[in-house]
This record gives sequence, structure tokens and C-alpha cells, in this order.
Amino acid sequence: MSVTTEPANLTNAAIADYAQRIGEHHAIYSGGRADLERLIGELGGQWDYGDGPESTIVYEPGKFTIFLPHFTSRSRDRFTMAHELGHYFLHYLYSQSTGAKIFNRGSRNRAETEANVFASALLMPADDFKRVWQRLESDEWEVANHFGVSPAAANVRAQVLGLQ
Ligand SMILES: [Zn+2]
Repeated sequence: MSVTTEPANLTNAAIADYAQRIGEHHAIYSGGRADLERLIGELGGQWDYGDGPESTIVYEPGKFTIFLPHFTSRSRDRFTMAHELGHYFLHYLYSQSTGAKIFNRGSRNRAETEANVFASALLMPADDFKRVWQRLESDEWEVANHFGVSPAAANVRAQVLGLQ
């Protein structure tokens, strides 16, 4: 098993589009916040708390476990789940991997950035985010609460979408 994750080499826009299409396909936005537990379950995955930093073990397509660290916030857990799903889609399914593969918390490389771009778009789909950002008058705390993310994550999304 390789230690360094190979990037998918897609543009950020393509990754964001991919993430949103997955979310819409699995109807995870019907309740407002992205329902990540539902998505993980529909994909055949599981999640659990584990010792150490976050990681994901993919056993085969449609069978994986995401491990979250203890003692973090709910919004942090949600971003981590979405990030790990990014690894599953971009660096396992899209790259047509087979067999077992482990994703550990990586250093600052392109694959990690790709997983973050995926997570951000999955949790905060562009059109919905723009609407909510306007309605809540650019209040990053309220917007963050709406999407179940941290204010910092909401801020980054607003910048990427050119809202501030
Ligand atoms: Zn990662």
C-alpha cells in the first residue's frame, strides 16, 4: 500500500461539481444540512471513532470505514467525514483502484487539497450557499451553523465563490 496518495489531477471546479452531483444524486440535502451519515451508509461505508488522527480504510469498492479522532467538535467531524469521502471518490473510485487502500492524514500535498475542495463543496453546494449567504447577510457564524461547518470553513467557501 502506498504511503503517498496520488492526486486525481482534476481542477478544483471539476472536483466541486463532482462532489455536488454525488450529494444531489444521493439526496443528502433534503433536510438542509448535508446528511453525511446517510451518504456513507448508502455507499456501503461505516464510520467510527478511532485512536489517532483521522484515516480511512477502503477494503474494496463499496466497503470502507472512516475513523474519526476523539474529542473534536461536531463541525470538525463533519468536515473530516466529507474530506475522507473525497479520498474515497477521488483517490479510490475515480482512480479505479481495486483492493485495499489506506488513507492517512497526509501532509500538504495536492491530494489533500483535492479532498478539502471535495469536502467544502459536498457540505456547502454553491447555489445553496450563495442563497443562504445572502439571506443571513454574510454572517459567517449563522451560515456555518446552517451548514454544520466551522465559521472558518464557511469563510473559505465564501471566498472561493467570490462572495467576499
Ligand atoms: Zn486526507
